Amino acid sequence: MTNLLNILSQIPDPEIPVINIVEIGIVRKAEQISENEAKITITPTYSACPAMFNIEEDIIKLLKENGFSAKVITQISPAWTTDWIADEAREKLRKYGIAPPEKGADKNHLNIPKKCPRCGSENTKQISRFGSTLCKASYQCNDCLEPFDYFKCH
Ligand SMILES: [Zn+2]
Repeated sequence: MTNLLNILSQIPDPEIPVINIVEIGIVRKAEQISENEAKITITPTYSACPAMFNIEEDIIKLLKENGFSAKVITQISPAWTTDWIADEAREKLRKYGIAPPEKGADKNHLNIPKKCPRCGSENTKQISRFGSTLCKASYQCNDCLEPFDYFKCH
């Protein structure tokens, strides 16, 4: 049986190209319903991100290339949370220079990066509530002075 998740892992997250839509938790379910039919359930990370609208098309196109006619179901409840980001993807985020959200953090009170993704210093300051995209905030490390993005928990 073809591993649909392996195929879907080829699609990068629209905002963070180093991680794919499976690792970030957008793909909730990938079911093969017959020899050449697949049913994919996705939960958008941010409904406000215009890039999310292309994911469905990308999934259909890629699965078609792999011999599947795919049906994509968008499930908005329960809402996507940063807790769904796989551990390997958090490490990739950090290497990419984005402070990953803390797993299980209090999303209202602890919505700050724990460490600078470059030097690990906990001495950081917020520069802007919004970084390169709405989903991130801009920070600067007070020790190595590097600016970095923080992937906000939500
Ligand atoms: Zn630093």
